[in-house]
Amino acid sequence: LAQRARAGTLARLGIMGGTFDPPHLGHLACAEEALEAFGLDAVLFVPTGRPAFKQDRPVTPGKVRLAMVAAAVAGNPAFAVSALEVERPGITYAVDTLRELREELPGVELVFIVGADAALTLPRWHESAELGRLAMFAAATRPGFELGEEALRVLRERRFDVRPFVVPGIDISSSELRQRVAEGRTIRYLVPEAVREIIEEEQLYRKEADHGRLA
Ligand code: ATP
Ligand code: MG
Repeated sequence: LAQRARAGTLARLGIMGGTFDPPHLGHLACAEEALEAFGLDAVLFVPTGRPAFKQDRPVTPGKVRLAMVAAAVAGNPAFAVSALEVERPGITYAVDTLRELREELPGVELVFIVGADAALTLPRWHESAELGRLAMFAAATRPGFELGEEALRVLRERRFDVRPFVVPGIDISSSELRQRVAEGRTIRYLVPEAVREIIEEEQLYRKEADHGRLA
């Protein structure tokens, strides 16, 4: 990407942050729609290291989530994945990632892509005032979450440059996918096939009892 920035073919970069445990078609449709709606030159998927908001449940190791995201975005030349957060020690914050990208990619406009649920929480993110200065926020519609006029007003009051956009409703969440795997149900066609294969190979999201039986 740094090379593309220097060559002048990267003016606007989308950043899709997430735990991606696992990545699914909702994430991909959201990134693809943002690419088109905001005239982005590329979208960089940044799996979190240790997410600040999700310390209440075990998260799949960063290396494995990174591999799943890499598999999910393979084949789309406009999509890329970054190990920036996975490799950063300690709890990871989006504000640090945006600062690093600013430095690495001078002159590139940064557009942080968030689903409606994540958009609503922006004022509570670490160093939210600084966060709001570093990027524009593209807020995607997501089934089950309402990003209404009042919520947008609050975000703008907090100085977030937030622009809503519509994504074809894909009512999938990683939580639901983990649950399905734990119950032995199918996740085919809800995640890219290559992601499904990694989940199977790594035996992710199975019930503890199953591990016990197999061991
Ligand atoms: P979990 O259930 O574990 O929270 P998730 O499906 O919400 O997983 P995340 O990794 O938390 O996935 O989400 C990363 C980003 O993608 C967030 O900004 C989230 O709002 C957005 N996103 C996730 N699923 C969708 C979807 N189906 N449609 C639009 N945006 C989505
Ligand atoms: Mg989520």
